[in-house]
This record gives sequence, C-alpha cells and structure tokens, in this order.
Amino acid sequence: MKLQGKVAIVSGAGSGIGKAAAIKLAAQGAKVCILDLKEKRAQKVVDEISGNGGIAFAMEVDVSEPDQVKRATQEAVERWGRLDIVFANAGINGTLAPIEELSPDEWDKTVEINLKGTFLLTQSSIPHLKKNGGSIIITSSINGNRVFSNIGMSAYSTSKAGQVAFMKMAALELARYKIRVNAICPGAIETNIGQNTHPTDELNQIKIPVDFPEGNQPLEGGPGSPEQVAKLVLFLASDDSSHISGTEIYIDGTESLLQG
Ligand code: NAD
Repeated sequence: MKLQGKVAIVSGAGSGIGKAAAIKLAAQGAKVCILDLKEKRAQKVVDEISGNGGIAFAMEVDVSEPDQVKRATQEAVERWGRLDIVFANAGINGTLAPIEELSPDEWDKTVEINLKGTFLLTQSSIPHLKKNGGSIIITSSINGNRVFSNIGMSAYSTSKAGQVAFMKMAALELARYKIRVNAICPGAIETNIGQNTHPTDELNQIKIPVDFPEGNQPLEGGPGSPEQVAKLVLFLASDDSSHISGTEIYIDGTESLLQG
C-alpha cells in the first residue's frame, strides 16, 4: 500500500471526484478526513471506506469559511497526529450568466468557494505539512486554463485560472519544506456538479455557435469518470511523483485541445 501511515484531507469528498479520490487514498492505506458541505453525503463515503477496511471520518465544513476550515484541519491532526496529503477539490459551477447580468454576490459565491476555499485549506495545512513534507493537490479545470468557450462561466473560469496561479506560487514558496503543490485540470467528468450549476435565461443571448466534429472527447468518445481522476490524484499524492511540483496536469481525453 502506497500511503500506509499517511493522513489525508479531501474537500468536497461527499460526491464525484473528491469521493472517488477519498476512496482511492483510503484503499492505499491513508487515513482520510472528509470535508463537505453536506454531512450526510460525507458520512456515506466514510461508511463505504470503513466497509472496505479503511479509516475515515467526516466533518461538515464550508470551505469558504476560515474558522471552519481551520478547525477541520486541526481536528484531523489531533485525531491522527500528522498530515501528509491535502486534496483541495470542493467546487461549484455556480451561476452561469452574461457578465452584464451576473450579480456581485453570484460572482463572490463562485470565487469564494473555488478560489478562496483553496487558499484557506492550503494555508491551514501548511503548519502541519511542514513537519514531514507532503503533497497538496488542487482541482482546477480545463476552463480558465485551456478553454474559454463555455460562455457564461466567467466567474468559474476566473476562479479556476486563479487556482493554477496560486498553485505555482505555493509550489515555489513551500518547496523548502518539501511540500509539493500541483493542480489537476479535468475536462467533463460524470459527477453531481449539475446540482451546483445555475444557468440563467439570459445565457442564450450571449451563446456563440461553435461547430465541433462529432463528439467532443476524441480519446474515449465521452466524459471521464471520477475514478480515472482519482488515479491521477493518487499518483500526485504518493512518492511516485516525488519530483513533480508546480505543475498542472490535464485529464480530459484531449477535449481541451479541440475546444481551446
Ligand atoms: P460534485 O458536485 O459531484 O462534488 C463536489 C462536492 O463539493 C459536493 O459534494 C458538494 O457538496 C461539495 N461542496 C460544494 N461547495 C462546498 C463548500 N462550500 N464547502 C464544502 N464542500 C462543498 O462535483 P465534482 O465534479 O466532483 O467537482 C469537484 C471539483 O472538480 C470542483 O472543483 C469542480 O470545479 C472540478 N471540476 C469538475 C469537472 C466536471 O466535469 N465534473 C470538470 C472540471 C473540474
């Protein structure tokens, strides 16, 4: 088992990519602290991990709330004595609207959860990761980095581009502590993110027609699975990637090369 004795925190682990990653990390021996806004979902993931012989516990946390994030990080360390892996993954698509129509509150909500949430979890983890070194993995996206054609996603794309810039700043700053920091940039992955996606009626007014060849995921002909993404997270969490820091990795079956 690659992660025996390690402790991991995974945000947004009640569903989708975070859930698959938490299960994968636990299966490799890591003890996993599961953070999610929805505690019932998170508890189900804990039950699944425990049922497979793994170790996990869940906390109801809003990643955009500094006190909650700090408390959760401390709780994980108090419980298991150390911290090695942080997967800052919680995120929402938020409101999709023309820039003219997007309210400042809608903008803030998306940026605060996706970007500030990443900063807060990274910041609160540093004192603990410093002790033994570690790995921080951030879920960004093809949007904001290679793809700019998903009209209406200006707040989302901005938050995802910001995460990659933050990742690079953090990778350099934290290298002296042997803390590696990387980002993953998924294309379309089949998850529950539709529940946190709110297209407005005005969106139709700004759509730009784009003609793709048939299908837009050339490699596999469809969206990726959370489990495929979890394998990349495991690689970045483990010592197999010990010389990789400050890098964004696309996991999209070439989707972003077609749309970029
Ligand atoms: P998901 O909705 O299935 O899972 C996200 C989880 O995050 C949910 O359980 C939700 O309750 C939780 N969450 C939302 N806001 C939160 C908050 N403020 N505090 C704590 N938890 C919160 O979605 P997913 O697709 O697995 O998304 C995970 C990450 O992947 C996001 O950052 C998203 O932007 C990114 N991403 C997803 C796709 C995709 O196609 N699904 C593509 C690129 C990037």
